[in-house]
Amino acid sequence: MEKRHALYAGKAKSVYHTDDPERLILHFRDDTSAFDGEKKESLARKGMVNNKFNAYIMGKLEEAGIPTHFAGLLNDTECVVKKLDMLPVECVVRNLSAGSLCRRLGVEEGLDLDPPTYELFLKDDAQHDPMINESLAETFGWATPAQLAEMKRLTYRVNEVLRQLFLDGDMLLVDYKLEFGVFHGEIVLGDEFSPDGCRLWDARTREKLDKDRFRQGLGGVIEAYEEVGRRIGVSF
Ligand code: 5GP
Repeated sequence: MEKRHALYAGKAKSVYHTDDPERLILHFRDDTSAFDGEKKESLARKGMVNNKFNAYIMGKLEEAGIPTHFAGLLNDTECVVKKLDMLPVECVVRNLSAGSLCRRLGVEEGLDLDPPTYELFLKDDAQHDPMINESLAETFGWATPAQLAEMKRLTYRVNEVLRQLFLDGDMLLVDYKLEFGVFHGEIVLGDEFSPDGCRLWDARTREKLDKDRFRQGLGGVIEAYEEVGRRIGVSF
């Protein structure tokens, strides 16, 4: 597969066209950012760790029957994906309270959320990814009711699969964000799943093992990502 010109450079990944119009290359960079890009750093090994972590998780989700865009690892920091028409909606499931939920509702961190909550956010940096709902998404044309229903079903299905996978590694899947797109009319999981876009706590100590280590200046960010990977069987 031949890598062609860049399609898009995000805050942590770059996307390239290929000689196949239905395939893209995702390049996981070492760059990391938080707070709408206000805090930025380059963390050695991050691109490699997230690329391999994501490949492993996408494989587990495919095994469970969840359609993903993942089409194969290319090298340490790149993978091939199906070219989706991305929907500008971020789907968030929470099993425990943390992050923006605590700030928005004034609740303490670490409450069990039963049933797990489901939230939608608009993917729009300029507007700081505002919270939206299905009515707004339909009216503004960000996704159809049928697409929203399928995204919700798949996002909860991912929770069933990954909650258990992380629990088997003595970790709690606190929350996560997914993005979807359309491929030949079907809703397919896109973007990535890595400790950059989810929260994971050690089940016993509740130590944070995800991007909150970067957001909160706790240090040991990539060491924590590698620890999570090792516990679930990723080989780096
Ligand atoms: P919160 O709404 O608490 O900020 O985030 C909820 C979950 O979704 C967290 O696991 C967080 O990492 C993830 N998340 C939400 N928005 C984004 C985003 O724009 N980028 C990334 N990487 N993760 C996000």
